[in-house]
Amino acid sequence: MKASHSDVERTLSVREIASRKKPSVYDNVTKQFNKAADLMNLDPDIRKILAMTANEIIVHFPVRMDDGRIEMFTAYRVQHNNALGPFKGGLRFHPLVDIDEVRALATWMTWKSAIASIPFGGAKGGIQLDPSRYSVSELERITRRFTFALGSNIGPEYDIPAPDVNTNPQIMAWILDTYLSTMSPHERQRCTHVVTGKPIESGGSVGRDKATGQGVVFTIEEWAKDRGFSLHGATYMVQGFGNVGSWAARLMKQKGAKLVAIEDISSVILNLEGIDSDELANYAKNNGGLISGYPNAEPIDHDTFLQTEADIFIPAALENQITSNTAQWIRVKLVAEGANGPTDPDGDTILREKGIDVIPDILCNAGGVIVSYFEWLQNKRSEFWELEEVDCKLHKKIVSAYARVRDMAKEFSTDWRTAAYIVALSCLERVYKERGIFP
Ligand code: NAD
Repeated sequence: MKASHSDVERTLSVREIASRKKPSVYDNVTKQFNKAADLMNLDPDIRKILAMTANEIIVHFPVRMDDGRIEMFTAYRVQHNNALGPFKGGLRFHPLVDIDEVRALATWMTWKSAIASIPFGGAKGGIQLDPSRYSVSELERITRRFTFALGSNIGPEYDIPAPDVNTNPQIMAWILDTYLSTMSPHERQRCTHVVTGKPIESGGSVGRDKATGQGVVFTIEEWAKDRGFSLHGATYMVQGFGNVGSWAARLMKQKGAKLVAIEDISSVILNLEGIDSDELANYAKNNGGLISGYPNAEPIDHDTFLQTEADIFIPAALENQITSNTAQWIRVKLVAEGANGPTDPDGDTILREKGIDVIPDILCNAGGVIVSYFEWLQNKRSEFWELEEVDCKLHKKIVSAYARVRDMAKEFSTDWRTAAYIVALSCLERVYKERGIFP
């Protein structure tokens, strides 16, 4: 299991960490939503519906630790909207997860599925814990007990979790197995699509592990085409070297671009001559998933990292990294948001004033949910697609989503984030108008 926190933080309890004040991520969603809804003149009734989440589930559950003690855990599943299809969204393990964050992440999922034109709604979940403090067997019991606590609040045609921060295919396999164990024997074979991002042998799709990073790079390629900019020899920096960051870093290398700086929870490193992202990924694999101690680069601090000059910055860690305090330091041509919510509204304004392009999260990192949809379809149809087919279909979907957002930005003379919202909100507005409101 990946380590996720510094030694200092490991000595703090989850409650202590969670009690630290952090800015509301849902406030950011609300500001972004209001800006787009005002500009497109969204129907006021539909605005009321989309401004709220549909269901918010908070569960507290006990788990026995390896030493025999019982620990209580708090976890969340928020379902924002399912007008376009079943609720869909990741599950994160993090000490700072709270209802505000999960609400925001669930809402972004609704927009993301709509922009990508896939028949899913939006949801997100999280368990408030620091996974580095628990053994693998404890994490398995925590995951299984959470799945059991959710009960029929998830389901293959209702709400489908997937990996997110500090969760992975192994955790999805435990969710799957626990969910199937609660089914009657004749239903079990029809329920493997209750989670996506599973290991291949358990019904996962090839290409799902790299899908989010792959989607990030596909959108960067489109941007480069639009700008007449060559990625060959272009410099880039990445924040986060987990699933999204490491795949994005490796796939950018295949385009001939040069990684100059990278930050994760353990360290920040710089090498203007270039950091080999494949070599770094191998190093991290044998170093608990962390980049600390990597020999072929020099350590720098967080502020210097953000001030590094490069062509492209891929934030692929957590929310609220580019803010009114830090956006002024950023010296790149493009911010490609691999993470969800890395830029807050003030940070966004500053980036725009500086003439920095932004491919917004709800477009840029949609590759994950797109290939999750492909996995879900393969499970339903008992099919197994080859990598080439998955990549080709992902490319087609994300490139057309990119074009929809680009065209909308032109039509409304607005920034790309607002344009992406307008694409999503227009789609949902049409659906609500066609169907009406029951009763
Ligand atoms: P992950 O757990 O695999 O990796 C997270 C990375 O961020 C790790 O390298 C960690 O060290 C680093 N990190 C954590 N806190 C940090 C900090 N304070 N400063 C710098 N680095 C820090 O998670 P992931 O799945 O790669 O997700 C990363 C982001 O991408 C999240 O915002 C997530 O919601 C988003 N996302 C993930 C997927 C997916 O398919 N996994 C899909 C869409 C969006």
